[in-house]
Amino acid sequence: MNLVLMGLPGAGKGTQAERIVEEYGIPHISTGDMFRAAMKDETELGLKAKSFMDKGELVPDEVTIGIVQERLGKDDCSEGFLLDGFPRTPAQADALEGILVELGKKLDYVINIEVDDSILMERLTGRRICKNCGATYHLVFNPPSKEDTCDKCGGDLYQRADDNAETVANRLAVNLKQAQPLLDFYQERGYLRNINGQQHIDQVFADISNLLGGLSK
Ligand code: AMP
Repeated sequence: MNLVLMGLPGAGKGTQAERIVEEYGIPHISTGDMFRAAMKDETELGLKAKSFMDKGELVPDEVTIGIVQERLGKDDCSEGFLLDGFPRTPAQADALEGILVELGKKLDYVINIEVDDSILMERLTGRRICKNCGATYHLVFNPPSKEDTCDKCGGDLYQRADDNAETVANRLAVNLKQAQPLLDFYQERGYLRNINGQQHIDQVFADISNLLGGLSK
């Protein structure tokens, strides 16, 4: 089950990714999470990524492609993977094809969660994430039962530095411009599957499960 998950920031990729990996037991490979972890650990990669991420810009292709190539070669990807946040550019999509050929793997689907842009700003600025376990909440649409506290593990909730209104506006603009060529690329190759992301979280997942039901694990 080799999957790419697409959708603009705030489309619900993170929430659906959590459910997909739990249900199907494949690793969740989020380039954004990998960069954030590297920044937290103050590694060389983290320092490189920070200057771009803080401005809402894309980290350069050669850096991003390198970390994905290394990650997909790990043993836990042998039964499949869920790529989230990658590819973001045509060069990354081309590189991914090459990486998969090299590893003897083939993509099954590119799942694109569709949500109107107007709804995304509201969703993103209200997003809160658990410092401890990474669970995501929304102040209005999916609030924790106790303010600023994770329901799952009791950890403190925080707002991502790049979820403020100014950076969000820039991220959406960058992503909108970048996404279309990739959607076209995967549509032409027959991998693209569009999922309506403006439904209840459970219904979005039901639609995805329906699609994945036909694949062997
Ligand atoms: P995300 O968590 O996917 O919204 O990513 C947060 C930030 O990480 C982005 O705004 C970029 O700065 C960086 N990033 C994540 N994935 C990529 C990628 N595939 N290519 C370039 N930059 C990325």
